[in-house]
Amino acid sequence: MMPVLLSPITDPLWPDPAAEELITPPEVEVYGRRVRLMHSMILHKQLALAMGVDRIFVLSPNVRLERRDDGRHAYEFTQLDFEIAHASMDDVMHLVEELLAGLFREARRWELDEITPNLPVIRVPFRRFRREELIEEFGGEEEASRLMQEPFWVTDIPREFYDREVGGVWRNYDLYLPGGYGEVLSGGEREWEYDRIVNKMRRAGVDPSLFGPYLEVARRGMLRPSAGAGIGIERLVRYLVNAEHIAEVQPFPRIPGAPVII
Ligand code: ATP
Ligand code: ASP
Ligand code: MG
Repeated sequence: MMPVLLSPITDPLWPDPAAEELITPPEVEVYGRRVRLMHSMILHKQLALAMGVDRIFVLSPNVRLERRDDGRHAYEFTQLDFEIAHASMDDVMHLVEELLAGLFREARRWELDEITPNLPVIRVPFRRFRREELIEEFGGEEEASRLMQEPFWVTDIPREFYDREVGGVWRNYDLYLPGGYGEVLSGGEREWEYDRIVNKMRRAGVDPSLFGPYLEVARRGMLRPSAGAGIGIERLVRYLVNAEHIAEVQPFPRIPGAPVII
């Protein structure tokens, strides 16, 4: 798909254990209606699958007015965002492992290791930790990212309504990079049933009336089971070239707190 930039609905990004506070997407007026800039195309991915396609990917520009400049957050960035009908979390995790292993193999062929002397060799499958288990072992995701030598998965993360939860277990996953590079991907299996989605919105304190067009499709039973993920392109490239700050991999850096120059 080509990306969508403006819509009345986008990801609330809430509640996510990594989100310190709710951030609100900027709005613009388009033909008399206020619409939002995309935080993420997650809901549009589900709606596109509802139209009948089985697999999609999109290079999706996202705007998020982040509060921290920690070298890893930009307020404009791009996700390689994809979704697959009837896929399981194992299917997606396997696909991502193959994608990254292939990318680093190719990078070596392009002699990128001359620019990045410690270009890592990616060995798959990556280790998996349930979030609770990881917190017990390392204290948190950040600490684990600093201590681990290889990329690793974190699963079972309580968060937004669209990620599937079965018997108290969240069938979702984040991929973390070693060396303190932190999170590079988030994804999950998805909820598709109207009642479950609305109940989870209410439980999370998210107002269902803000998601009218999405909920209407869900109410008609048209959402489909699926799984997918989004990879942060700038974060992946930052790791690939060993850059200190995300600004180094953006020709026009978008750093939280810094005014836009061009
Ligand atoms: P974080 O916890 O690091 O703020 P997030 O969990 O809010 O990230 P997601 O909503 O999971 O981010 O977005 C999917 C992916 O998009 C992330 O895994 C990351 O690679 C990338 N991403 C998210 N926010 C940013 C940002 N502000 N700058 C650059 N990349 C980002
Ligand atoms: N792209 C992510 C996903 O597919 C969600 C997000 O951007 O918040 O789960
Ligand atoms: Mg995330």
